[in-house]
Amino acid sequence: MSVDLEEVRIGPARILFGENRGKYPDANCVLVEGGEERVLLDTTPGLVARGRGAVGDVDRILLTHCHEDHLAGNFLFPDAEVWLHAADLPGMASIEAMLDVIYGYTGARRARFERVLVEQFHFVPRPDARAFRDGDVFDLGGGVTVEAVHTPGHTHGHCAFRIEPAGLLFLGDVDLSSFGPYYGDAWSDLEEFETTLEQAAGFEARHYLSGHHVGLVDPATYRDRLARYTAKIRERDQRLLEYLREPRTMDDIVAHRFVYRPQDQVPNADATERVMMGMHLDRLIRRGGVETVDAGRFRAAASEAVQ
Ligand SMILES: [Zn+2]
Repeated sequence: MSVDLEEVRIGPARILFGENRGKYPDANCVLVEGGEERVLLDTTPGLVARGRGAVGDVDRILLTHCHEDHLAGNFLFPDAEVWLHAADLPGMASIEAMLDVIYGYTGARRARFERVLVEQFHFVPRPDARAFRDGDVFDLGGGVTVEAVHTPGHTHGHCAFRIEPAGLLFLGDVDLSSFGPYYGDAWSDLEEFETTLEQAAGFEARHYLSGHHVGLVDPATYRDRLARYTAKIRERDQRLLEYLREPRTMDDIVAHRFVYRPQDQVPNADATERVMMGMHLDRLIRRGGVETVDAGRFRAAASEAVQ
């Protein structure tokens, strides 16, 4: 296995980048070393590639959220406490809960992903995992602290972590990617994500770390990236309204592709389009921007001005 992966230290924080700077299926994680405790923020495939010896003993694991690429190294530290936000806690209890509650997959897809969780991401249930809440601060000794900042939407329990005195905000999967926000699972929520992004515009830090390949950015880049990332949601709404000038079914919407590009070869792209664009459609119907024409067909309301 490669151990030639990039690492950056900022005060008490050691940032352990994944392969391709943490592009999925890898991700970025952080080891924080205080006077009394050593804590891992996420345990990624890149951490597994380095091996346990690269980080030594760890007292506690804090997870940004309950997704496969952020907990793949938990198995390396069976004696460390595992903590995550109360809302994501159910996913750690068992692989069944992970598949049913967090992802909401069914049938063959569920069976396939169960194997992926175990074989590729080393999922081990931790029914003993413990819950933190928004604003909880972990004191690692020597003036080093990690604060949980609840940033739901990607999952209901998703959190960022503020690491002091490093002035580092670890954003997890509010990942600032050009793809835009991802809310394609059963445990995701479009409107929670929007509220999170409004709040994120006011997050002050000296350094910002994406959980994936955008990596470490300065405040100016953060604001610029965040604005473009946030704009993706409105773009998806506008493109959907434009498309619904003619009556369309949900199957038409899925086939048209709004989240992915038509040429993108992504496993389960259709299912993701259905979940994410279903959230956009439901909201537009609720707000009167889209109306139901007949059984299963939708059209932009006549009053809806599409720019
Ligand atoms: Zn995730």
